[in-house]
Amino acid sequence: MPDSLLAEPPLADPEEVLHRVFGHAGFRGRQGEIVNHVLRGGSGLVLMPTGGGKSLCFQVPALCREGLGVVISPLIALMEDQVAALRQQGVAAAALHSDLDDETARAVRRDLAQGALKLLYVSPERLLLEGTLGRLAEQQLALFAIDEAHCVSQWGHHFRPEYRGLSALAERFPRVPRLALTATADQRTVEDIRAQLGLEEAPVFRGGFDRPNIFISSAPRDSERGQLREFIKAASDGSGAGIVYCGSRAKTESTAEWLRADGYDALCFHAGMEPEAKRASHRRFARGDNVIMAATIAFGMGIDRPDVRWVAHTDLPRSPESWYQEIGRAGRDGLPARALLLYGAGDIALARHRIEESPAADEQKRIERMRLDAMVSIAEAATCRRRILLRCFGEDAEAENCGACDVCRTPPRLWDGTVAAQKLLSAVLRTGRRFGVAHIVDVLRGRMTDKVAQFAHDKLPTYGVGKDLPDATWRGVARQLVAMGALDVAVENHGELVPTDEARPILKGEQKVMLREDVTAVRGAPKDRGTRAAVPSGDALFEALRAWRRAEAGRQGLPAYMIFSDATLGAITEAKPGDEGELSAIPGVGRSKLERYADDVLRLVAEHG
Ligand code: ADP
Ligand code: ZN
Repeated sequence: MPDSLLAEPPLADPEEVLHRVFGHAGFRGRQGEIVNHVLRGGSGLVLMPTGGGKSLCFQVPALCREGLGVVISPLIALMEDQVAALRQQGVAAAALHSDLDDETARAVRRDLAQGALKLLYVSPERLLLEGTLGRLAEQQLALFAIDEAHCVSQWGHHFRPEYRGLSALAERFPRVPRLALTATADQRTVEDIRAQLGLEEAPVFRGGFDRPNIFISSAPRDSERGQLREFIKAASDGSGAGIVYCGSRAKTESTAEWLRADGYDALCFHAGMEPEAKRASHRRFARGDNVIMAATIAFGMGIDRPDVRWVAHTDLPRSPESWYQEIGRAGRDGLPARALLLYGAGDIALARHRIEESPAADEQKRIERMRLDAMVSIAEAATCRRRILLRCFGEDAEAENCGACDVCRTPPRLWDGTVAAQKLLSAVLRTGRRFGVAHIVDVLRGRMTDKVAQFAHDKLPTYGVGKDLPDATWRGVARQLVAMGALDVAVENHGELVPTDEARPILKGEQKVMLREDVTAVRGAPKDRGTRAAVPSGDALFEALRAWRRAEAGRQGLPAYMIFSDATLGAITEAKPGDEGELSAIPGVGRSKLERYADDVLRLVAEHG
């Protein structure tokens, strides 16, 4: 880094900006360190979980340094939301993308030319137009922030060809700091980002990956709708939002449908929808109160609302990284949130088959297999799930017991399932590896079904040897053998069970099999640490503030959280500020919001406090 840049004095104190503009008391985690690095002209790569607070890492230095901060973002909805939120905070921000009408685009260009903007959000294709680059070259630039930087990597699942062109920034603007940000911590993606964006020499800031406010739980899929119903009831509280991730497009539609029939405001989203429908769905989700989105993983980037209270998966995600990114969309406001993962033996087998049949190189398949195994071990965990998850991100959990996952709360009982596993495997072998789990369980339980009669399976020595255990336990044994790799499921055929080589030592009695007792009931956070621990739901003042916020948001055409977050309303309810000075001390109340809303809020406190 050249000395002249180091010598450049910051225009404003970052702590001061953090407090005055954003209303926050202090930096979180590594934010302060990153902000100071950029203030001194440094470039870098920031790896933080979703909801970790990446935005402030570039917003604060952009406001402190002289000149314009340019933020490259892949999604129009995301840009629009961030710009609206910044304007609420009194920051001169604008977005430039292909969706603007001519007049708006002209106004943005004019503000830009006049130096009237402090932050410009721009899509990569817009940025790389010669006209835009030329215009920026005439300006003093504070920094470039490359948001969702993993889009630059072909290795990831979110590759955007336009992001490749961003390598030009390093050559064209060598003295302007470049800060790349992503929630993906995968080593290959990280190396790819550094190489593509010319950040090989720049530091990597890896933030704390733990999100302790998200209570995580997992259960074998039993009755999907019943389990979801139970979970949603416990996890939602009348405002905020929830997301159900589904393994297929059709399932997003059917899920939204039955949720609507249940009386929820439910939408769906998947990559097969028309762009206009996708946009509408996205928008309704961003603004709706108490809304549920049933979506494929195509619904991801651009979910900026901080009050997503829960995320559920109805099918096994392909890796801990993608799962964490998806559940990380819950509880960005730091208030308690919940995640539920439902999965079955078929999911595990299907994911394995997909990897084997993909045209990818062996090395890539090996990595995909490792990721999947890690995901399965989280789903089947008998020890703290958070611990296993954090280890995937290279972090060691501090405590043995995180206190915020279902395993830590109610540890599952383990039992010696060696004999049961042997019985099940031999039933599979003796019936000729041609049947799915339902028939195998019938044979084990000694049930004279049509199929049993048809194939004379009642004549087998394994017929009825499993009368001592209930059906659900047998299904659990089969699933856990699949998870262990001792059984495969022919998912492309009729789901018949097929033993693998790993089954041999079990059958021979050379390997002990410890199984967990399945609990399919959805176990959430205990009630006393319920989702509203920090917010006095039901309090007259709190409800009055919420109603006022809803009306105000409606008037301005903004999502409610952009006026004030639930956390901020909760803190106001607690503190009952009597004047502007006291109100400005509440987290989330910056100068601009104080000017706009102090009168209304103080009046409500006086009336209801
Ligand atoms: P990310 O982009 O990493 O997913 P965000 O930048 O959207 O995360 O931040 C997540 C939430 O945390 C936002 O609601 C933001 O206001 C809040 N937040 C971030 N930094 C702080 C801080 N230092 N103090 C208080 N709240 C913060
Ligand atoms: Zn735990």
